[in-house]
Amino acid sequence: MSDFPRIQLLTPKRGMPPTHFADLSAEQRVSALNELGLPKFRANQIARHYYGKFEADPLTMTDLPEAQRQLVKDSLFPTLLTRVRAVETDNGDTTKTLWKLHDGILLESVLMRYPGRATLCISSQAGCGMACPFCATGQGGLDRNLSTAEIVDQVREAAATMRSEGSRLSNIVFMGMGEPLANYNRVVSAVRQITSPAPDGFGISQRNVTVSTVGLAPQIRKLADEGLSCTLAVSLHTPDDELRDELVPMNNRFSIADVLDSARYFADTTGRRVSIEYALIRDINDQNFRADMLGKKLHDALGSRVHVNLIPLNPTPGSKWDASPKPRQDEFVRRIIAQGVTCTVRDTKGQEIAAACGQLAADEKAV
Ligand code: SAH
Repeated sequence: MSDFPRIQLLTPKRGMPPTHFADLSAEQRVSALNELGLPKFRANQIARHYYGKFEADPLTMTDLPEAQRQLVKDSLFPTLLTRVRAVETDNGDTTKTLWKLHDGILLESVLMRYPGRATLCISSQAGCGMACPFCATGQGGLDRNLSTAEIVDQVREAAATMRSEGSRLSNIVFMGMGEPLANYNRVVSAVRQITSPAPDGFGISQRNVTVSTVGLAPQIRKLADEGLSCTLAVSLHTPDDELRDELVPMNNRFSIADVLDSARYFADTTGRRVSIEYALIRDINDQNFRADMLGKKLHDALGSRVHVNLIPLNPTPGSKWDASPKPRQDEFVRRIIAQGVTCTVRDTKGQEIAAACGQLAADEKAV
């Protein structure tokens, strides 16, 4: 296990896209339009198109004077995401869309439709520098951070799709490619735009936005202080540092005690329950003693303000690891619950189109 790729925090290989309307705060939008010689009210007008109607092409914004549409497009609406293809599964309930970014990097987002809600799984970075050995994205390293607008625009696209189906996008999970808290400022700014009421944002409930992290403890504390009531998910995957140092190499920097302490701070500060993600891997982290230790540690640290999401491992191509057998999984769940901690098993949507956890865009890269 000593030959893991090294953790990369910030070594972007390629460039950020040009500034987009969705990179800007409400005040910045007004000054950007001012610089183009447009009055303040145009900023709100354009925001109503983008955030309220999910439209990103100024040429179709017919309430803008015709002469200004091209100017606004050229200055503030560079094309961020170009659809390469979309694949459906689960009887059309799950759609994986492959996007090309301005510099040719490929990115995916996954839209999952459930009765009464629709969840979009988005990426915060192209690639990932966290090097978790069971995750396909982690094997390829980090290409670069996504810009705020590249994150926000994934949401706009899915929101438009849901509206065209007569429904609405209700939930966002930062569980696609990348470590959201390693791209902290852009992710927080994206969360604000995803959750602010129109015309400043898409108006998705903060509680329905989940930020999932390997456990960058200082950034978890910082996130707690942002005044957002989004959901925090911590990818723990084992309750002991010895194994976690291997499964989640960032554990060498921030130990389980430190991560759980920061999660407790998050729960205390926001009043929100914390989710713990645990990919169950056969004969690696699925033993009874680990279930007992996990339940106890979580109960001690967080009491009833914690929920375990068990994810059956989705084996990546060539991986020597596999999911645990069903009876093992059932016993693991039972033991966690016996410690007073709630636990559910994540359903594995999108598996046959490689849209499941950790697999986004990896197959295309390999071609
Ligand atoms: N960097 C963030 C987001 C990653 S993806 C984080 O680590 O939380 C979201 C979840 O999918 C994480 O819990 C991640 O560990 C998990 N995951 C990655 N690859 C997986 C796989 N092959 N099978 C099951 N879960 C996986």
